[in-house]
Amino acid sequence: MDYDLFVIGAGSGGVRASRIAAGHGARVAVAEEYRVGGTCVIRGCVPKKLLVYGAHFAEDLVDARRFGWQLSGKAFDWATLRDNVLAEVDRLNGIYQTTLDSNKVTTFHGHATLVDTNTVEINGERVTAKHILIATGARPLVPALPGAELGITSNEVFHLDKLPRKIVIAGGGYIANEFAGIFHELGVDVTLINRGDTLLRSWEPALRERLLMISMQKGIKFQFNCKMQSLEKTESGVRVHLADADPVDADLFLWAVGRRPNVEGLGLEAAGVELDERGAVRVDADSRTNVPNIYAVGDVTDRIQLTPIAIREGHSVADRLFGDKQWRVDYNCVPSAVFSNPPLGSVGMTEAEAKNNFGTVRVFTSDFRPMRNVLAGRNERALYKLVVDAASDRVVGAHMIGPDAPEVLQAVAIAIKAGLTKAQFDDTVALHPTMSEELVLMR
Ligand code: NDP
Repeated sequence: MDYDLFVIGAGSGGVRASRIAAGHGARVAVAEEYRVGGTCVIRGCVPKKLLVYGAHFAEDLVDARRFGWQLSGKAFDWATLRDNVLAEVDRLNGIYQTTLDSNKVTTFHGHATLVDTNTVEINGERVTAKHILIATGARPLVPALPGAELGITSNEVFHLDKLPRKIVIAGGGYIANEFAGIFHELGVDVTLINRGDTLLRSWEPALRERLLMISMQKGIKFQFNCKMQSLEKTESGVRVHLADADPVDADLFLWAVGRRPNVEGLGLEAAGVELDERGAVRVDADSRTNVPNIYAVGDVTDRIQLTPIAIREGHSVADRLFGDKQWRVDYNCVPSAVFSNPPLGSVGMTEAEAKNNFGTVRVFTSDFRPMRNVLAGRNERALYKLVVDAASDRVVGAHMIGPDAPEVLQAVAIAIKAGLTKAQFDDTVALHPTMSEELVLMR
């Protein structure tokens, strides 16, 4: 065999697996057809978060006046933000490549296809490997509608020549709400069109309602229960045809209706690798496919589509195969955030989930106006919610919306993962004045 491990896809999961396996002494190669770093670094979490920072200056500059700052000549230049973000992406791409190189992982730049269970073909070259790891990620779903190709996806959104005057965003999930916030703050007229009547379906309802209320207050428009029929090119952009509603015109249309595993063109059939009913690579708790020497991690397995999960899955596979360390990823209490404006953070069970699990729960909420918003004259309230199992007093869920909610949430996730009780939260002295002190003051 040429390699001990051949990894297909150099994103979060693939790079971590490669580095750890090489560190254990394995001979490792990784194939990447686009750019090393994957969705998160190249066209996802990282550039998105930088755009969130960039966009938020719009409100900060408005609020600044109430804090005594007289600012003149407030002008925004999209090209500057875009190019600085893309330059940062280039820097990170370089760091990822250096990580692979310095760990003596061979990088193949090209599309890899499985020929059989131990052979991979890249750019016409065949190499053999004892183990294979599929870490090809996912891509934005574009529904098969007439004119669907007139819309862009999150892949293209970071490269816009100029900002649109008006954007329609399809979907009501993570990406739709995050980009609704970004574009709106950058002065774009935003309409979000959702097929159902619920944003962020799996989230705690109180937070979803608060986000919707604040987003509408800011001026983001929403159309719910709207079935999209087709997109049509117009002189200035695109016309969206809807069932049972008037068409909507926009300069730009963004698909944000979910992501699908990248399983096509990989030769999975040739190797006999099975997919599940959702079209993802089927794996067991050790990330092993039905073919004993082939593993899969990250979004291509569609377990939880989050970078830190892919990283852990990749790490666990490498440790298991080459480090003689047998551990499994624990999917319990995975924190999650939506970087909307304001952002949301959540860990553990919603109130409804806890009721189903425990029968009786106690719920504590803090609905408050952050002091910064008070002075700024900004009528936006934060909402924190703790869900407690009544029998054991354990806090089993924390859900929050408000400034920096994801930062606060990561810390509280430790307490919840550790199984701390509400009494232990209450025993903790508040850190005043902060927003997170609300977590220990809910009675
Ligand atoms: P989500 O799964 O979050 O949301 C998809 C949305 O699109 C839902 O509102 C869904 O409606 C709707 N939808 C699904 N299919 C269709 C369809 N065929 N036509 C019209 N609407 C449809 O997807 P995203 O694309 O926003 O994000 C994908 C995943 O990436 C997330 O689930 C998350 O795991 C990850 N992600 C994480 C981020 C973070 O951690 N901050 C940021 C971005 C992405 P319905 O509710 O009715 O199903």
